[in-house]
Amino acid sequence: MKSIRHGVVAAVAAGVLLALAPLASRSSAQGPTAVQQYLLKPARVFDGTRVREGLVVHVRGERIVAIGTAAEVPAPGAEVIDLPGMTLLPGLIDAHSHVLLHPYDESPWNTQVLNEPQSLRVARAVNHLKATLESGFTTLRDLGTEGADYADVGLKQAVAQGIIPGPRLLIATRALVATGSYAPKGFAPEWSIPQGAQEADGVDALIKAVREQIGRGADWIKVYGDYRWGPRGEAQPTYSLEEMRLIVDTARSSGRPVAVHASTPEGMRRAVLAGAETIEHGDGGTPEIFRLMAERGVALCPTLAAGDATTQYSGWKKGSAPDPANITRKRESFKAALAAGVKIASGSDVGVFTHGDNVRELELMVDYGMPALDVLRSATSVGADVLHMQAQIGRIAPNLLADLVAVQGDPSQSIGALRSVSLVMKGGRIVRR
Ligand SMILES: [Zn+2]
Repeated sequence: MKSIRHGVVAAVAAGVLLALAPLASRSSAQGPTAVQQYLLKPARVFDGTRVREGLVVHVRGERIVAIGTAAEVPAPGAEVIDLPGMTLLPGLIDAHSHVLLHPYDESPWNTQVLNEPQSLRVARAVNHLKATLESGFTTLRDLGTEGADYADVGLKQAVAQGIIPGPRLLIATRALVATGSYAPKGFAPEWSIPQGAQEADGVDALIKAVREQIGRGADWIKVYGDYRWGPRGEAQPTYSLEEMRLIVDTARSSGRPVAVHASTPEGMRRAVLAGAETIEHGDGGTPEIFRLMAERGVALCPTLAAGDATTQYSGWKKGSAPDPANITRKRESFKAALAAGVKIASGSDVGVFTHGDNVRELELMVDYGMPALDVLRSATSVGADVLHMQAQIGRIAPNLLADLVAVQGDPSQSIGALRSVSLVMKGGRIVRR
């Protein structure tokens, strides 16, 4: 206990020293109370909604102070950062990640859940978080630890306290599954195997499980509304509409929203009717279901990159072979969601594929038919709105946190420009330059 406390104190002290270092170097010019200021001068700004040229952005401490022309934003005493040819954007948001997973072609999901010690998984997650932040993603909604219990709670605290670098984290902890529906599977039925999420069903157990996850740190409740447990291994709904309503109402009374994994029309329909705020995947969504989502303001996290990755892991030679049936269907259902006007929050299911390569999802959204400008909105302002964080992140506007990314070129013209990251700032601190 004592050594743990000492470690925390030392780490906090180190963080304070790091935070003070830039101030100390400037204190002679600005006095001991000076706060670090930057004046960013990019070729263009994507402010979360549109692209504009000829603007500068003033950052003071952890927040954006002003955006305007150089004449409108004088910013005396600010360190000028010239970003010629570059686009400045709000820090990117991935609304569906698993920092405690690593790509399935490195190690199958079952092996990760059953054979990898939690300490190993956490060690990997520390690296994942750093890679993610440095690639320009400054916020993640991490949708379940996949068998690593509450390990996301400590990771979130470690980032928030400045102990490790990483994006802002919203976490779901263990996630909820109906008994018998989720994996690992294939064991003798007399054995009880550790699961990838928390099993709970019915009134008392579900209420208790939701409250338990909330009490231990969940920002969102993640539910598996369907899963591949049909008689032929196909996806079928899990929770009844009544159970789903119970989960949503219990979470909502604590102020927390619910995200539902669903790929069948019926699983999606139950989730929407129950009051879920986001549907994850939605591969089998029909025009009718997407219309229902649009009517009720339910957002879709399409996770295009997950299916793209797992299909390649199972042998698809992308580029030389034609699209397999599941990819064709996914293209069609994504187009149906766009046509119905469903709110799309960029969410990739990263962890299935390499952390730090989150931009893959944005590239696929463009490839599957979404205009690049809408894709950028999806990963910034729309993502922030869906995550209830619009007062903090997702736009370049006064008083918002200075989570900013500068990339070479113009990603609204060519989304691949997001791979040419030159500067990453989180909360007014430069984390990559
Ligand atoms: Zn996922």
